[in-house]
Amino acid sequence: MFRDAAEIIGSDPPTCHRSQVVSFRWRGFSPELWERLNANGELRPLTLEPLDLFVSEVRLCVGDRNGSPCLEELPSRLDRCRSCDSFPVQECRFQPRCRGSLCEGTVCGEEHTVYLALFGPRTKAGMTRSTRLRERGIEQGADLIVPLERHGSRYEAREAEQRISRERGLPQSMPLPALAATTVDGSSDEAVRMWEGMSPSFPDAGGLQVLDGYPLRGLVSAPRVMPTAGKHRGELVGAKGRLAVYRDELGMLKALDLKDLVSRFVGTVPSACAQSTLF
Ligand SMILES: [Zn+2]
Ligand SMILES: [Zn+2]
Repeated sequence: MFRDAAEIIGSDPPTCHRSQVVSFRWRGFSPELWERLNANGELRPLTLEPLDLFVSEVRLCVGDRNGSPCLEELPSRLDRCRSCDSFPVQECRFQPRCRGSLCEGTVCGEEHTVYLALFGPRTKAGMTRSTRLRERGIEQGADLIVPLERHGSRYEAREAEQRISRERGLPQSMPLPALAATTVDGSSDEAVRMWEGMSPSFPDAGGLQVLDGYPLRGLVSAPRVMPTAGKHRGELVGAKGRLAVYRDELGMLKALDLKDLVSRFVGTVPSACAQSTLF
């Protein structure tokens, strides 16, 4: 059932690529990508400078099985298959089904915070483990994050998030084109002004955290979010949340979804692969 790396590399389209992108995270305000080389399994940081990537359509599990890459097909937008996911019950990631009992006391049983994230003039509600509040704000590219309520389990926090979202008319997600727009009008000053207008109706909110260290400042026009699969070549301009912004060879501002890059295969294009269905 599980294909090993040699089989994939030997016969499948990923043979056209140098590596698989296996993780993306922010360390403070520095985005960090890692790739696993197809040739020898070596893990190394993936730099986007210079940016010259062909990205596969194919996405395979980035988990490890007995010391080898899992490479199971992925049915969802997640980057790990059900067996490799750190959530024992994968559904609990989004819509918790337990308060820690099904998940054996892991994430579902931990204290979670429902928060408001502000992206310049835009707002969304969300929830995350309380210990990850600031990190969660940065990985989403928010300019300001405000804790609203704390709950003893993920399940209760998710219910509270849905209630607050419904009662206040707040979205629970930030579409990528809207996030791209915040590279123009997103600023912590604007977000603080927005929050000052809203704060009287959230009397129990905790202290706000300003997130203003992104390596991307005041663009004059919003980048176009590109399909992840395909060619991305140009000069890196910066990054915010899950988007890396670059200027292509014709001077157009484009954005690459770094979170969606994880589990895909990347390389600079060898001509033999150019006709592959991957592209
Ligand atoms: Zn897996
Ligand atoms: Zn659970």
